[in-house]
Amino acid sequence: MSSGQLHDRITLWSLPLVTGLTLGLTQRSDLTLIVSGGFLFSGLLFSPDLDLYSRPFKRWGWLRWIWIPYQKVIRHRSIFSHGLLIGTILRLLYLAIWVIALGGLGLLIVQLFRDIPWNWQELSQQIKRSLWTYRFEWIALFAGLEAGAILHSLSDWTSSTYKRFKRKRQKPQRQTTSRKRKSSRRTSKR
Ligand SMILES: [Zn+2]
Repeated sequence: MSSGQLHDRITLWSLPLVTGLTLGLTQRSDLTLIVSGGFLFSGLLFSPDLDLYSRPFKRWGWLRWIWIPYQKVIRHRSIFSHGLLIGTILRLLYLAIWVIALGGLGLLIVQLFRDIPWNWQELSQQIKRSLWTYRFEWIALFAGLEAGAILHSLSDWTSSTYKRFKRKRQKPQRQTTSRKRKSSRRTSKR
């Protein structure tokens, strides 16, 4: 099984646990839905492995190119993609830049054909108000995204530690067998 497949399965298997825990803690089905949705999105599309040509990267379809500069700048499994909190925060900021840039471009194109009188002050006030009104929803979304990222980094760390441990155990065995072979060659020469 590839590591991408394994990450997908871990995300899907853990989803009921995340959902149950959130519902138990918050007693709110709307927040539970947001946390679970964020967790699923994080595992399948917003994963730390966006720093690599991976399954989550391919799932962005024709929009996947937006993650190419991210891959060029951030080394695979570095603290900036796989680190606690910093990985999710940086990915969110990175995505926000693209959303603002592409959204701004879209508005500019619309403005070229139709003269819409934008009230920028009113718009920024509305954004600020909605950020505050839906603060618990935003926190729930971030918690879901971060939980998915933590689970990903934990499974990466567990699998690489296990592989290192296996290699260490195999090394002495290989050395002893090669020693045996050498000594048997020596005895056959005699
Ligand atoms: Zn990873």
